[in-house]
Amino acid sequence: MERSLDTRVDQAVEAWLRWLPRWEPATHRGRRSPCRRCLGSPVLEAAGLASDVPHGVQHGMSTRIKAIVDAQVGEYTAKNLPLLQAELDEQTARNRARSYRPREDLAPEFDGLPLDPDPLPGQPFLFTIAGLEQQAAAESAPLPPLSEEAKRALRQEVRLADEFADEIGREVCALLLRHRMRIRAAVTEFVEPQIDALLAELTSSLDTPFD
Ligand SMILES: [Zn+2]
Repeated sequence: MERSLDTRVDQAVEAWLRWLPRWEPATHRGRRSPCRRCLGSPVLEAAGLASDVPHGVQHGMSTRIKAIVDAQVGEYTAKNLPLLQAELDEQTARNRARSYRPREDLAPEFDGLPLDPDPLPGQPFLFTIAGLEQQAAAESAPLPPLSEEAKRALRQEVRLADEFADEIGREVCALLLRHRMRIRAAVTEFVEPQIDALLAELTSSLDTPFD
């Protein structure tokens, strides 16, 4: 398993490095709410992307690494935690039955972000993607209630899955440390010049406001 985790981290970093040259600074208004996946992420800390890097660049990495941890936890759960696995299978079947599933098949750069942009003050949206998703979720019947004993057993399995996820998270961070130099070099090559250009443009438009 050790070796395969190693390989998966290598592949995720390679995929991020291939994607990075296509990254462009967002020209639209920034989000007000911080990203829960990226803020304070030990993964980004280990990768050397914790500060002075635009969120889009961070998110592309944290999502790719999260996918690795999720896959490992999924394998562990399938093998060792039958109650939790049954619960997840049930949830998957219900999700598949929904008429509208906007979160499926998103590129890593978009996965985990809010589905809708922030509304402008005084200009509410007529409808939102998140609202349509909620409507679709409300179509399915509620899950049958669990007995107290079943709940306890399930909680115990959830705790084991969490512990395993922590363990994998720590291993992944240790593996990422080896890639820091290349990650940093790629930021210097592809990200920093674009930020510098944006700042230069801003400075020149401030210098000559009536052009
Ligand atoms: Zn993020």
